[in-house]
Amino acid sequence: MAIVVLPRGLDAPVDQLPEIGSKYSKLLAKVGVKTIRDLLLTLPFGWETYGDPVTVANLTPGMQATVVGTVASIHVKVTKYKKLRLTEAMIRDDDGAGLRVAWFNNPWVVKRLARGDRVAVAGVPKSTYGGMFEMQNPHYERLDGNEAVQPTRIGGMMPKYHLVEGLSSRRVARWVESALPLAEQLEDIIPEDVRERHHLIDVADAVRRGHKPETDRDFDEARRRMAFAELFELQAAFAIMRANIAAEPATPIPYRQDVGDAFKAGLGFELTEAQRKATRDAFRDMQKAVPMNRLLNGDVGSGKTAVAAACVAMAHASGMQAVVMAPTEILARQHLRRFRAYLEHSFPDLTVELLVSSQSAPERRRVRMSAASAHCALVVGTHALIEDDVELANLGLAVVDEQHRFGTRQRELLRAKGRGRPHFLAMTATPIPRTLALAVYGEMAVSVIDQMPPGRKSVATEVVDPDHRDRAYDLVRREVAAGRQAFVICPLIEKSETLAVRSATAETERLRQEVFTDLKLDLIHGKLKEKEEVMRRFVAGEIQVLVATAVVEVGVDVPNASVMMIEGAERFGLAQLHQFRGRVGRGAAQSYCLLLSDDPSDAARERLALVARIQNGFELASEDMRIRGMGELMGPRQHGISDVAMEALEQPELLSEVRQEAERILESDPSFANHAVLKAAIARRLELTSIS
Ligand code: ADP
Ligand code: MG
Repeated sequence: MAIVVLPRGLDAPVDQLPEIGSKYSKLLAKVGVKTIRDLLLTLPFGWETYGDPVTVANLTPGMQATVVGTVASIHVKVTKYKKLRLTEAMIRDDDGAGLRVAWFNNPWVVKRLARGDRVAVAGVPKSTYGGMFEMQNPHYERLDGNEAVQPTRIGGMMPKYHLVEGLSSRRVARWVESALPLAEQLEDIIPEDVRERHHLIDVADAVRRGHKPETDRDFDEARRRMAFAELFELQAAFAIMRANIAAEPATPIPYRQDVGDAFKAGLGFELTEAQRKATRDAFRDMQKAVPMNRLLNGDVGSGKTAVAAACVAMAHASGMQAVVMAPTEILARQHLRRFRAYLEHSFPDLTVELLVSSQSAPERRRVRMSAASAHCALVVGTHALIEDDVELANLGLAVVDEQHRFGTRQRELLRAKGRGRPHFLAMTATPIPRTLALAVYGEMAVSVIDQMPPGRKSVATEVVDPDHRDRAYDLVRREVAAGRQAFVICPLIEKSETLAVRSATAETERLRQEVFTDLKLDLIHGKLKEKEEVMRRFVAGEIQVLVATAVVEVGVDVPNASVMMIEGAERFGLAQLHQFRGRVGRGAAQSYCLLLSDDPSDAARERLALVARIQNGFELASEDMRIRGMGELMGPRQHGISDVAMEALEQPELLSEVRQEAERILESDPSFANHAVLKAAIARRLELTSIS
């Protein structure tokens, strides 16, 4: 038995463990694992049980099975569409019966397995045309006679960890194994009395049972404890933030009926009931002498801007200024137009200015002066707003759009732009269910805008088989011929922005030369300097087909665009696909969203089918949560909260129990003097996350 020498402690980086070099530590960082502590605390999201090996003759379709045999052949095939690499192998069991195995987009298998290797594969066999069984994407383990040293999980329970390309659950399990002796040193953030009240096992026990359960119950108890701990830490952090905010004075902004009426009269449309409710919520908060801290959570196109504009009008009427910060310049400029359109008619003295980094120095200086002298009522801008030299004479309201795109520090800097504390309004177009909103944005009050302005047509959404890509192109051509415009989204390539740009550029060239030879086509991506100019030309109709990387995600408004074609759709989260879809269907014409996927697996198809079936962002988000267990496709921590905690949130009473316990500690021990471990964990969290 090899003796594993463990270096330093829990806070050591994972590459201190044997077998984890810098390459793997980078991959682990992508799933949120940086230290040995992280590795231990990140439990698998599920398990597969395969039982003892069976022979091919004993397989039945659909069963979960382990087959042991010899690799008779293995090779990589590149399918017609270049993105998909298929590794095919033939395994012969000891009776000589063959089993076909296929791995999609897993080219590293072929480096690990060679002809003649003895191997165990575990998965679900399907029968194929030739009467032979095939397993797709099975777990595999090379049996090199050394299994006594490395724990062999095939045949027993196989953990499923969140992965990125280049990692495997098997590998992670091995690393965890070598770190497991350190679990002893983990300190528990949950005080003993809380653990007792809620029947929670302690942290070391949970780590051991979670990574290497002997029974399902072991695993469930470990996960329940971990979920509780995570939510507890989060809620305690929120409780601190809420207390901090409530301790600061803000200037009340009194409600004035005449201002509300004038605002509505100048708007040009009727507010929806959901918008009215959100507006009332915000007005109520702003009248208080503590700062408003509210999140507007509304689907793309639900009209959040109008709610923010109502708040700006109210602030202005009481002599206070406002700022609105957006993540991109495109969006900031759109806001500038929108806020002006909503406000200038009824409030002629309400001046709106723009501040973005591409402006000339003299122009920026003029806007800064105007802000500092309280001449302008509203400054709309990007990150340029939080630079040192920007100051507002009388800031009463700070608004952040697409708030998840900003870090805690950036939001803090914006709030610090005036002399006192402004009221704060955040907006997000990522619709999330209410419980989750409470869990994730616990320091904020949430207004949900779950209603669309009248007359909006639903976007016809379809999953298109890659073999039928031409049909998608035909639709684009047809729409353009009818005078409309289209987006083509290139797959997001996580590895690097440079690669993403390169592939989008190549795709644009291909489309220009081979597909849409007669159309006006252009490209927009995150690194492009002329983003604004390209967007302007698209808005002006000078570009008919806009190829884009993920930059168009945020709320750009081009009512004439009627087709959203998304390549590599399986690589995006459901919420993000929904965001893309929200770019079309903003005009009178019927709009279309076409999802092209290179991943033929059932799981991928099922996820995409949800987007096609569900138009409501909130519903889609719930579904997204429900299937999160399919995990490996989704990627972890979409909301800064682990899937373990996410799953626990499905029990409605859990969160309120956790909140109560957190509040109880804050009341009895406000400085956390008796809760040092929890305090340290919160400090780490507040520093590291952008959740607040
Ligand atoms: P969000 O930011 O929530 O995605 P916007 O504020 O950009 O949505 O609004 C989307 C579009 O709908 C804009 O063109 C806006 O002027 C329009 N709009 C907003 N509210 C209403 C309403 N109540 N009735 C009609 N149109 C509306
Ligand atoms: Mg918006």
